[in-house]
Amino acid sequence: MKFNVNEKGYYGDFGGAFIPEMLYPNVEELRLNYLQIMQEPSFQKEFHDLLRDYVGRPTPLFKANRLSEKYQTNIYLKREDLCHTGAHKVNNTIGQILMAKRLGKNKIVAETGAGQHGVATATVCALMGLECIVYMGAIDIERQAPNVARMRMLGATVVAAQSGSKTLKDATNEAMRHWINNPVDTHYIIGSVVGPHPYPDMVARFQSVISEEIKWQLKEKEGKENPDYVIACVGGGSNAAGAFYHFLDAPETKLIAAEAAGQGVASGHSAATTFLGKEGVLHGSRSLLMQTEDGQVVEPYSISAGLDYPGIGPMHAHLFKTGRAQFFAIEDDEALTSALELSQLEGIIPALESSHALAVLPHLKAKKDEIVVINLSGRGDKDLGTYMKRLNLI
Ligand SMILES: *Cc1c(COP(=O)(O)O)cnc(C)c1O
Repeated sequence: MKFNVNEKGYYGDFGGAFIPEMLYPNVEELRLNYLQIMQEPSFQKEFHDLLRDYVGRPTPLFKANRLSEKYQTNIYLKREDLCHTGAHKVNNTIGQILMAKRLGKNKIVAETGAGQHGVATATVCALMGLECIVYMGAIDIERQAPNVARMRMLGATVVAAQSGSKTLKDATNEAMRHWINNPVDTHYIIGSVVGPHPYPDMVARFQSVISEEIKWQLKEKEGKENPDYVIACVGGGSNAAGAFYHFLDAPETKLIAAEAAGQGVASGHSAATTFLGKEGVLHGSRSLLMQTEDGQVVEPYSISAGLDYPGIGPMHAHLFKTGRAQFFAIEDDEALTSALELSQLEGIIPALESSHALAVLPHLKAKKDEIVVINLSGRGDKDLGTYMKRLNLI
């Protein structure tokens, strides 16, 4: 368990709960109850029934033969792109909506950047009949009109965050404030392995279904549970945490994280946190984040909205610092090349985020008899506008 959270909510030097006193009762209620609730057989049954019948799990573990041929190794894709709503995010929102119900909450608040977590949250609120309020930066509302429309169609109220830079950071602040003012009836659904303890651990546990499935699926296909490599992209780090979770203590499995280098690590337009970040506190936990000398958070940049985040979750900061995971910084153009490659070799159009994980392949030098599992976190439909422009498709 040396790479997992300890009872104080820390992964090595990272994690904890750095929150304003007004938020303490809300977070404490969750901390005191989450493990016990998750372990209840009735919770487990409801969670797994919904993952099967609503999300469509287990997602396939697909042997990508033409991609394997090209890179002279054995490549499997974990098909999170086939989840309902098109990405892994719904695994977590299903878990958290059930948690909210067990805690007696009937309202949900969430923040969203590009809108993908907002859509996954609005989806499960519709499913369960809970009121849903999503805070979103005013600038993001303009940039991400289709996701705003989806959330509204699903019955959610989208509230524009007008403060600061009018993006994710400000939406997060306003969602927190909303939660402080509504502690009794509202649960706050965080969308990645970030935020104060117990969020990173709770979200990692909900997403860990990914590696749980990889293990038995690989056993069926290759006769062994542990691959040589697991590769995943890291925005906040939830799909990577889920894909790594059951391999954390299996040293024969190398864990590889792909961050967004944007236009280049040194370009000033990047989101490669482990390359550029320093230790500090962001969104309630101690981790690595991109900040200036005087501690101002630097606006991140990536071609992919889901990786455009100035920090990483505390588990990943710990995996980086201890060397348990190796981090690659993948540039926009590399991700675009890999998106085109997967589309034409396997007939699968990946999300731009997932394309960053695929773009590790040319750097990897895996051997012919080794097994590489890539977590394909989402599908590319939402990125078609970018692909049309950047790959000259029109
Ligand atoms: C949101 C998103 C990500 C990044 O979030 P993580 O918490 O790092 O997983 C990656 N891929 C897709 C498809 C996403 O929607």
